[in-house]
Amino acid sequence: MIEGVSGEETRITQISNARPGSPLPAASFEVEEPQILRFSTPASEECARWGPRFAQDDNLRGAEDPKLREHCGVVAIHGHPDAARQAYLGLYALQHRGQESAGIATANGSSLSNIKGMGLVSEIFTDEVLDKLKGDMAIGHTRYSTTGDSALLNAQPIRVESTKGLIAIAHNGNLVNLGNLRARLEREGAFFQTTSDSEIIVQLIAHSRAGTLVDAIADSLSQVDGAFSIVMMTRDRVFAARDPRGFRPLSMGRIPNPDGPDTIVFASETCAFDLLRARFERDVEPGELVMVTSDGVTSRRYSTGIPQSSCIFEHVYFARPDSKIFNRWVQESREQMGRQLARESGVPADLVVPVPDSGVTAAIGYAAESGIPFRFGLIRNHYVGRTFIEPEQRVRDFGVKLKLNPVRNLLEGRRIILIDDSIIRGTTSRKIVRMVRSAGAKEVHLRISCPPTISPCYYGVDTPRKSELIAANNSIEEIRRFIEADSLAYLSLEGLEKACDGGEGNRFCVACYTGDYPTHWVDVEDILPAAAEAVR
Ligand code: SF4
Repeated sequence: MIEGVSGEETRITQISNARPGSPLPAASFEVEEPQILRFSTPASEECARWGPRFAQDDNLRGAEDPKLREHCGVVAIHGHPDAARQAYLGLYALQHRGQESAGIATANGSSLSNIKGMGLVSEIFTDEVLDKLKGDMAIGHTRYSTTGDSALLNAQPIRVESTKGLIAIAHNGNLVNLGNLRARLEREGAFFQTTSDSEIIVQLIAHSRAGTLVDAIADSLSQVDGAFSIVMMTRDRVFAARDPRGFRPLSMGRIPNPDGPDTIVFASETCAFDLLRARFERDVEPGELVMVTSDGVTSRRYSTGIPQSSCIFEHVYFARPDSKIFNRWVQESREQMGRQLARESGVPADLVVPVPDSGVTAAIGYAAESGIPFRFGLIRNHYVGRTFIEPEQRVRDFGVKLKLNPVRNLLEGRRIILIDDSIIRGTTSRKIVRMVRSAGAKEVHLRISCPPTISPCYYGVDTPRKSELIAANNSIEEIRRFIEADSLAYLSLEGLEKACDGGEGNRFCVACYTGDYPTHWVDVEDILPAAAEAVR
């Protein structure tokens, strides 16, 4: 049960970015009362409801083998009388993309309000809080981050008063040329209040010599490198943009309005459109900047000629199976991954069993292709909360058992093919293999629906350092022995790309499987210290 606001509020009034003696600030950050809310209640039950990401990750926080985490999800609404509640619904559907903080900014043509807090969307945005957010435009953000106070300070949207007017911004992804840009902006008088990539972008907008806001945004985006799907809002306009390589998804939808202009919506994943009753219209293209005003939707390319490299791990794990990203249904990709896995590494067995929930769709595909029956031989306890296991190391060691339980009468005496979506450190996989074997399975064959993860991500995914990635330091046979499986096979890279493309002609980033990065990650130490250590 959610018990509500703890009463602990952080109040920050106008913070100027001007250094002593410097000219007028180009941008100043406003976080007005009581716009940052901090929640003390654990989020376990809400997390558990969403299945794969929440319950599993939080349950294993601080333990041996967490899943990789996405950083953010974004939404934007233009032309709805209760834009805040629409943004809330969109964020609710995107909660799997970040569970540490959330925020919504709204605008009504003359003013711009912003509320953000630590916790889940449903914890922060009660009816009372949403009532404070007036306007027919909104942007929203949900975020995963790793640290306490900095997480609060870096919660988004960020609202900035600049020489180009009042702007609210939220983004998903990671920039990879932070250091250079930051140093240059600081030389020009900027004083940074956060470590957020969003602040780099708004400082660039504020310092741009372009004559109009839209030109300044385009100018700013053309200077940053890396992964970003961005939503922005002024008092009377909404903007959405994707980086030129299209790392992270961002889609545009429409809620038809027979009595006036349609509501235009943007979201990291199309699953958000279903709750909003919005019709999917199209993806925001890589290198595209879309502007929505009361006159309608306009679009411009701020970058061309850079090859697409959309994150393939969105299809493997992050995105919800009921979303369509990069023009492809995630459910279809995952089922094809399972089918391809069966073709590449079939093995005689009695049952195909998914590691729930994230291995389910690939297991359905594997079973369909191989003709081996699919069964839920492992049951997830969706009501295990993070607070239950955090206090005692002794309890943590039982994390997997708390979370998963074998169906003994299905597994006993059978040859089992276990399907999972990744192995990060290997310790959780070993516990699951042991669990299935101790339930009486005669053989346990582990099949993974993507290639071995050998390299960290610099584009918005929280990856362990290379030294902690089991596949970066061991052969497949060594991993098999470590996890104590009778056999182990991963999906090939070609097989994964084929499964995720589905004839759409997409080109993907596969750097965590190859170590071959699509950008020059010149400022690695600014992006991810652990990763920097890994490549030294
Ligand atoms: Fe996605 Fe991996 Fe590329 Fe990161 S490195 S963007 S997780 S494919």
